[in-house]
Amino acid sequence: MEKKDIDWGNLGFGYVHTDYRFVSNYKNGSWDEGVLTEDANIVLNECACVLQYAQTAFEGLKAYTTEDGRIVVFRPDLNGERMENSAARLKMPVYPKEKFVEAVKKVVKANEGYVPPYGSGATLYIRPYMFGSDPIIGVKPANEYQFRIFTTPVGPYFKGGAKPITVRISDFDRAAPHGTGHIKAGLNYAMSLYAIVDAHEKGFDENMYLDPGTRTKLEETGGANIIFITKDGKLVTPKSDSILPSITRRSLVQVAKDYLNMEVEEREVMLSELSDFAECGLCGTAAVISPVGKIVDHGKEICLPAGMEDMGPVTKKLYDTLTGIQMGRLEAPKGWVVEI
Ligand SMILES: *Cc1c(COP(=O)(O)O)cnc(C)c1O
Repeated sequence: MEKKDIDWGNLGFGYVHTDYRFVSNYKNGSWDEGVLTEDANIVLNECACVLQYAQTAFEGLKAYTTEDGRIVVFRPDLNGERMENSAARLKMPVYPKEKFVEAVKKVVKANEGYVPPYGSGATLYIRPYMFGSDPIIGVKPANEYQFRIFTTPVGPYFKGGAKPITVRISDFDRAAPHGTGHIKAGLNYAMSLYAIVDAHEKGFDENMYLDPGTRTKLEETGGANIIFITKDGKLVTPKSDSILPSITRRSLVQVAKDYLNMEVEEREVMLSELSDFAECGLCGTAAVISPVGKIVDHGKEICLPAGMEDMGPVTKKLYDTLTGIQMGRLEAPKGWVVEI
């Protein structure tokens, strides 16, 4: 398929209309087969459950072109599995992960012209989501649902190198104990908007959230998990029931163990330990790893030894190895890179 006339290197992270999206409807207890449509608009009743009670969850992954010219997606089965868990927690019908992966492939194939070329740094971002669509006024789950996937080309996350960012320890919480922090629910983002706008107004790039129960342990940021590198080169990543299980973080843990022979600790990480670490990074699909140079805890600045100029050396090795696997420059573990 002919590539669209897009200036790939100068794309930002914003919505760009593409040709096709996938839609499947749930009614009378079952999902229909689903279709690709050119219609980007949704018409809903004013009382749709999603509008009144935020019954919605989403996923995010990307398609890109490998060094040898294949169009691939990274571990879509894990996005499908996570969406199953999100749906179950919000009392939505599960869209089976096998069908999820098929639908992702279909919609990427249909929008092949929007998949950026290798080397551009750009990707085709894929956004699956599901919501309760019929009118609900008494608080209960909807009876009807829509599962959709749209795609949008997005530019390179780091233009001109990955500059370390400054984060603050947040006084807001992102998840309640035994709440919904571990699922990708829209509601987790709605309530984080106040905190992120406030952080930006005060000159910080991100909020680092503490555990909601005791506020003494580190959890994650609004949209990325955290990894630390100790001074003796171990990878440490917080473990908690209220963290969203990032696919990037889980992949980095495996890369650290199997490709780089590193020791890995998945455990509770205390706020008081911060000054012991050599490097810190935020991990998620969009950036893979964003290096953190400085963490500000109520006026007290913790400057990571890796500094504010470049990614730390161990973080860089992790980043290069995982992106090497994704781009087909290094051999991938079985099932990680799925061809369209
Ligand atoms: C999506 C998300 C992540 C990153 O997950 P990936 O699967 O790596 O993209 C991390 N934290 C939160 C809160 C998220 O919503």
